[in-house]
Amino acid sequence: MIVIKQGKEKNLLRHHPWVFSGAMEESSIPAESGVQKVVTSDGRFIAWGVYDSESHIQLRLLSWDEDSVPDEQWWGRTIRESILRRRAFFEDRNSGTNAFRIIHGEADMLPGIAADVYGRIVRVIVSARVAWSNRQLIVDAIEGILHPQMIILNTDASFCAIEHLHEVTEYYQGGQRFTPTEKLEDMRIREDGIYYSLTPGSGQKSGFYCDQRENRIRLERYVKDAVVLDGCSYTGGFTMHALRAGARSVDAFDSSSDAVHRLLSNVNMNVELGTLPEDSRDRVTATKADIFETLRSIARNKYDVIVLDPPKLAQTIKSLENAKKAYKDLNRMAMERIKPNGILVTCSCSGALSREDFRTVLAWSAKDAGVEVQILETLGQAQDHPIRLSFPESEYLKVFILRVIK
Ligand code: SAH
Repeated sequence: MIVIKQGKEKNLLRHHPWVFSGAMEESSIPAESGVQKVVTSDGRFIAWGVYDSESHIQLRLLSWDEDSVPDEQWWGRTIRESILRRRAFFEDRNSGTNAFRIIHGEADMLPGIAADVYGRIVRVIVSARVAWSNRQLIVDAIEGILHPQMIILNTDASFCAIEHLHEVTEYYQGGQRFTPTEKLEDMRIREDGIYYSLTPGSGQKSGFYCDQRENRIRLERYVKDAVVLDGCSYTGGFTMHALRAGARSVDAFDSSSDAVHRLLSNVNMNVELGTLPEDSRDRVTATKADIFETLRSIARNKYDVIVLDPPKLAQTIKSLENAKKAYKDLNRMAMERIKPNGILVTCSCSGALSREDFRTVLAWSAKDAGVEVQILETLGQAQDHPIRLSFPESEYLKVFILRVIK
């Protein structure tokens, strides 16, 4: 039994799932990892949690129901419920996609687990020790409900150091681990009438950024006849929507040459499939380049629309101050260079940066660029990446569509 220090229990009673070491009564900290009952200093039940001294969050709360101990059944049931909440996606009632998230970590009451469906394949990403040690239960539960062709499970490289995990990829078929003898074939996924090719098990995030699904569609209303810059384009999500919606031209940039190649082949594939207009190839360029340098060097007043979707610049709260500067510079340069009345679609996927802080940063950018900025739309992550009210950290993707007035 772990006792929470007086005054540190409030958030936990409100179902916040993270407990750091300073909140636990020293004398109640167990010697071994495992499931623990967590109580207030006067002995009131708070939740069931899993303690692990090697995790950067030593105690993670799983169940606030005293009768529901997080055992095998709990894992099976919680995973099943998470998947069933996405029923509309399986029935293809959401933006016509076969790529979507079925488990969104703590927001689905499952710490350190993200799982995405890509057609017949499921990709599981583990970012906490508790998920790693229960991975066979996770695999079995997904297998039992979905019977996918394959489950690919890997640890999240950006959490391996702080969670003391190794960078590992495992493959499962019928719930059994196996070692693929050859490279997995590329597959094709579909989202809102546009196709993307990806190699199962490789690529960034879990291979595709389905959290931006709705925002890519949103972009379409601003790009007719526009000259568009897609900074941090990855495999062309925003670029292809801009091409489809009649942009005059789209210049895509990404620091990864794989992403740039994949983008061009995605455009080709969609032209051949008839899902993008014939002339799309002539309207697009894709360049391997750093977005900071790109924005520094592009001509002023060239672009009507700029999309900035950089990677997580703040990995942790500790790196937040530097990240704010980076977000500020990036957006300042875009505001300086965009055409008068241009549309800036700016994103931050850093969970450590709150929506309010991101707005403040954008205000600094506007001030330094000497422009007025209007917020036209306030957007976020797609509904298969829900935000849990008791866990504000699950709101990680902030997107503003801005008009830059000069
Ligand atoms: N908008 C994309 C997702 C972008 S993810 C979509 O809709 O699919 C962020 C991208 O930024 C990644 O592809 C990564 O390779 C790229 N990136 C990371 N650092 C960068 C940098 N300094 N300059 C340009 N691109 C960068």
